[in-house]
Amino acid sequence: MQRKAIPKQIRQRVYEKYRGRCAYCGSAIEYKDMQVDHLVPLYNGGADDVENMMPACRSCNHYKRASSLGEWRKQLEATTKTLARDCYTYRNAVRFGQVTETPHKVVFYFEQEAANV
Ligand SMILES: [Zn+2]
Repeated sequence: MQRKAIPKQIRQRVYEKYRGRCAYCGSAIEYKDMQVDHLVPLYNGGADDVENMMPACRSCNHYKRASSLGEWRKQLEATTKTLARDCYTYRNAVRFGQVTETPHKVVFYFEQEAANV
């Protein structure tokens, strides 16, 4: 489905929500590289407004895709299990102490921001 382009002044407001950082991983992003993600996906009834729009880096937008935040968090928290299952090099790196797994809850950047207010 082709969506209407987001007006420039709306994009600018989305960009400024987290002072030029990705709402999910917290990386600094250039305005021109920002992708606008809908926190609650539109198909799930999310609103097409600034409140629901999140500035996202290309990688986060790609990996979140149309997942809910909860689904994506679960995927991220399972990353080391997925790597251990699928990747011989990763298993070797763990076995020889090159990688130390530190399982913890994923807290997205915008959640950390909200907690610091
Ligand atoms: Zn990101």
